[in-house]
Amino acid sequence: MSAPASPIWHPFTQHGLEEPVPLVTHAEGALLHTAEGRTVIDAISSWWVTTHGHCHPRIMAAVAAQAQRLDQLIFAGWTHEPAEAVAAGLTAIMPPELTRVFFSDSGSTSVEVALKMALGYWHARGEPRHRIVVMEHSYHGDTIGAMSVGARGVFNRPYEPLLFDVGRIPFPAAGAEQDTLDALEALCRGGDAAALIVEPLVLGAGGMLVYGPETLRAMREICASHGVLFIADEVMTAWGRTGTLLACEQAGIVPDILCLSKGLTGGALPLAVTMATEPIFAAHWSTDRARMFFHSSSYTANPVACAAAAANLAIWREEPVRTGIEDLSRRQAAWLEKLGRFCHFDNPRALGTIAALDVRSRGEGGYLDDLAPRLMAFFRERDVLLRPLGNTVYVMPPYCITDDQLDDVWNAIGEAVISF
Ligand SMILES: *Cc1c(COP(=O)(O)O)cnc(C)c1O
Repeated sequence: MSAPASPIWHPFTQHGLEEPVPLVTHAEGALLHTAEGRTVIDAISSWWVTTHGHCHPRIMAAVAAQAQRLDQLIFAGWTHEPAEAVAAGLTAIMPPELTRVFFSDSGSTSVEVALKMALGYWHARGEPRHRIVVMEHSYHGDTIGAMSVGARGVFNRPYEPLLFDVGRIPFPAAGAEQDTLDALEALCRGGDAAALIVEPLVLGAGGMLVYGPETLRAMREICASHGVLFIADEVMTAWGRTGTLLACEQAGIVPDILCLSKGLTGGALPLAVTMATEPIFAAHWSTDRARMFFHSSSYTANPVACAAAAANLAIWREEPVRTGIEDLSRRQAAWLEKLGRFCHFDNPRALGTIAALDVRSRGEGGYLDDLAPRLMAFFRERDVLLRPLGNTVYVMPPYCITDDQLDDVWNAIGEAVISF
């Protein structure tokens, strides 16, 4: 071990491999500029968060203005204009059944809040339901509760003894959807199921695994028929990622609890919300302090982050965001098809602005297969930021990516598919 050049301990990074850590000085649109003078195309929206592009002028202006007015405020029993604007904006744009907005700071915490709301609901009703039902290969975050409801594997092996027990249903692979529905029905019949938590239509970190809206709808109906709460983790899928504002929209369903984070601020600042229907809120409503919802973090609804989210909502209301998403979705699908004509890869899939394929690997194909870091290095040399999941290469760019930039990304992928 040599003396570190920087004391920073990076997330999801094995420092023992001494892979380069590029330093980025500034960004705009889909481009990152490094201290070395390179211009890199951010083809994964800086880990799925940047929707309209980096340093969007309208969001940056809102942040700058808010920073001059109110920086931070205790949110227990106090409120401020940006939070009210975000809550009003969300209730106007999201399904009307979701009447309540609870703020937190990250996708993981929005999931923790969702789980606590669901368990609190059953507790308040005096019904002993504690089991959370989850889907195989899911990812819901890296805190203990979020890991408990996510896939178990190399990511969380050291913590396994602390993770709570859940009910599991298989991923609805094409042709095997009924197995998923049967497993869900059986778990719901068990009587102790409090809630199902799912990533609607596409499992992100699990490998961009796509399933159909009919299955999502059928799962929602099974839950409803047994009174099991339905939690949609739309942390990745919301804000147009899958082609619609929410992925749930494509299945014509509304969850009881909805988790939002990544694109909530357009990807500019950390913020999350958990939205809930009136019965969930009502279960916690009381004149008894012992029945309040016991959850908060220091920076809940930080005003500057809320100003960014309010600007994002205004952009959705006033600018042709949906047209841009439709356009990018078409360009992504066209590239996937074009590439398929020239080279071989497995399992091409596209959903809205997300496109993915599996590179044929000679290794085992798991997350720790060294194919992923080799691919990542290959793309980095070509000034394209992609971060494959095992042998799955996916493109999830900011919606403002230009034709030329997208061509560069897909040409690099084409080269990789041939070379590896
Ligand atoms: C990223 C992600 C999370 C966790 O969000 P963080 O902000 O990283 O904590 C939760 N659920 C899904 C579906 C995600 O993609």
